[in-house]
Amino acid sequence: MAHLAKKLLLNACSLFPVKPLLQLNKGNTLFIPIYHAITAEKLLHLEHLMPYGSKTPKQFENDLDHLLKHLKPISLDTLYDCVLNKKAIPENSFIVTFDDGLRQVYENAMPILLRKGVPAIFFINTSVIDNQDLLFRYKSSLIVEQVLSFQKSGKSLDAAMAVLKQNNAIFDGNIVFAVMKISYKQSHVLDSLASVLDLSWVDYLAKEKPYMTGAQLQDLKAKGFYLGGHTVHHPELWKLSNEEAVSETYGSAKFMMDTYGLPFSSFAFPFTDVQIKNQFFEGVQQAGGIDLMFGSQKLKRDIQPNTLQRFDGDNSLIEMDVYIKALLAFQWVNKLRGKTIFTRS
Ligand SMILES: [Zn+2]
Repeated sequence: MAHLAKKLLLNACSLFPVKPLLQLNKGNTLFIPIYHAITAEKLLHLEHLMPYGSKTPKQFENDLDHLLKHLKPISLDTLYDCVLNKKAIPENSFIVTFDDGLRQVYENAMPILLRKGVPAIFFINTSVIDNQDLLFRYKSSLIVEQVLSFQKSGKSLDAAMAVLKQNNAIFDGNIVFAVMKISYKQSHVLDSLASVLDLSWVDYLAKEKPYMTGAQLQDLKAKGFYLGGHTVHHPELWKLSNEEAVSETYGSAKFMMDTYGLPFSSFAFPFTDVQIKNQFFEGVQQAGGIDLMFGSQKLKRDIQPNTLQRFDGDNSLIEMDVYIKALLAFQWVNKLRGKTIFTRS
């Protein structure tokens, strides 16, 4: 039902022209899509994490064409200047962002961005640069894939179930559900599951090379793109102590700035910033501060002055043209309700 309502709403939105919707939302028209991989391939490490898949290079190019038709690209330098000097952000602007540092964005998205002259920021988990490790959620996706293949071929999953039970994982008999519930703090359980399911992270990293290398990141910077942190290990920050969360966050932004010689620091929240409290921002400030931070509350403005909000661009079933209109329609409703500012406790 919710799905149908959403579909009807999107169809209704698609009938509106963009210009009057932009007019209705004056003052809140900075568009920052979030992408992960841009690929036509099936990536097993993402397969069970992204319900609506990834955009293909062709779809990504279409997205950029739609964005360029209605909006103007803005550089991160300009955004930084606006935030630092409390200037208004130019109306109807956009910048593209990529999270998790996947190889396919270097190979497939970067040439399109260069051709179209669109600025982009790449937010990196510093523990996986050069394919030194796999993010824990990617491990979950690979385990689920392996479980499904075991089920298909009738192989026993008793050993995997025993691991889940031994580790008090949330287990009601549905092994896939249990694996997807494993948090960063329990990621050792994923490693134990891998060993009983004939999976080797080392082999997978060597064969698939999911992430960009340090040299590729240097090249992105040399080509005029921006780099930022996305934590060290991609944990659920709200499940960590404030000290740990600050260290994951500040550590990644500082590492990126120092390693790649960046003029200022930026950071994007992994998963969501919904439960991130003001106390966290105070902690980051005390650690040394991050110049610009990026959440995922769509077109809203943040109560934290140096935090900008983004929206999901990965959904391969919705065209950017329709999505922009839907975002603007939702934002207008929020405006009528006096809810365009994202507040924090
Ligand atoms: Zn991420």
